[in-house]
Amino acid sequence: MKCKRCKAPAVVALPSHNTAFCKECYLIFFARQVERAIHTQKMFSKDDRLLVAISGGKDSLAISWQLKQFGYNVTGLHLDLGIGESSLVARTISERFCNQFDIPLEVVEFASEGLAIPAVRDTVKRPICSVCGQLKRHFFNKMAVEGGYTVLITGHNMDDEVARLFSNVMAWDATYLAGQGPVLPGEHGFVRKVKPLYTLSEFETANLCFLAGIEYGYHPCPYSKKASFTIYKNLLNQLEEIQPGRKRSFYQKFLEHGRPHFQHTEDKTTVLHPCPQCGFPTSSCNDEPCGACRIREYMRQTK
Ligand code: SF4
Ligand code: ZN
Repeated sequence: MKCKRCKAPAVVALPSHNTAFCKECYLIFFARQVERAIHTQKMFSKDDRLLVAISGGKDSLAISWQLKQFGYNVTGLHLDLGIGESSLVARTISERFCNQFDIPLEVVEFASEGLAIPAVRDTVKRPICSVCGQLKRHFFNKMAVEGGYTVLITGHNMDDEVARLFSNVMAWDATYLAGQGPVLPGEHGFVRKVKPLYTLSEFETANLCFLAGIEYGYHPCPYSKKASFTIYKNLLNQLEEIQPGRKRSFYQKFLEHGRPHFQHTEDKTTVLHPCPQCGFPTSSCNDEPCGACRIREYMRQTK
C-alpha cells in the first residue's frame, strides 16, 4: 500500500476516504481537515483567546496539539470529576501533556466544589450522565466567561457527532436537531463553543496522537457502560464496517440538508435570566437558581 500523496510506503489506511498516507502526509491530511473546519465554519481567528476542554483523551489532546502547532493562543481546562482511578489517570495525562507542549492548564476539582461525581450520584436521584453533563457545561462556560476567553473548544469528533445525531433522530427531538452542529454561537451569557474535529473520526485522532508522539490515556468511567451514546457508537461502527463512509455522509448530509428544516422549528420562546446564585444564564422558572446551583445546594443540604 502506497501513500496517495507522495507514493512512499503508507502507514495509515483510511477506507472511508478511500485513501492511505505515510506519516508526514497523514500529519498534513489531519492539519488540513482541522484548518478547513476552522475556516469554512468561521470558528475563530488568531486574535481569539481559546480555552480548550482537555479531558486527557486522544481527541482533546489532538486538537490542543494541532492548535498549538498552528500558533493559536491556547489554554487548557481540565475538569477533575473525582471519579477514582478514571479521574486520576485523566488528570495526570492532561497535566503531563500540557507541561510537555507548553500549554497553560487550568484545573477545576469537583471534589473541592462539593460535587465529586460519585457523591452526586449517590445523592441526586437522576441519571448520573445527565447530571454530570450539566455540571461540566456549567463549569466550561463559567471558566471561559470569567477567564475572558472568547471561544471554548471541545474535542468532539465525527463519531461523537454522529452518535448524538442518531440519538436525536431516534427521539425526533426537533430542538436538539436544530441546535446540533460544529459551532454554537456565543450569546446571552454563553461563550461561543466550537468543535474543530467534527470531520475527523476517533480512529483518525488516535492515529494523529500515535504519529505525533502524544501519549494519551483512558481509564473508562465506571458509569459509561450504560451511556446510550456508547451503545449508539457500537451500532454505528458495525454499520461503518459494512459500508465505509456511511457515518461521514450521514452527518454531512444532515448539516447540508437536514438541519435547515429543523432550524425553522427552533424554540425561540425560552426566556433566559441570570441565575440568582451564580449569575450565569438559566431558563429555570420563577427566578430559581440554575441546574448546577440547585445540585450544589442539594448536595450541601444532604451532607
Ligand atoms: Fe460523566 Fe457519564 Fe461521562 Fe462518566 S460516563 S464522565 S458520569 S458523563
Ligand atoms: Zn447558578
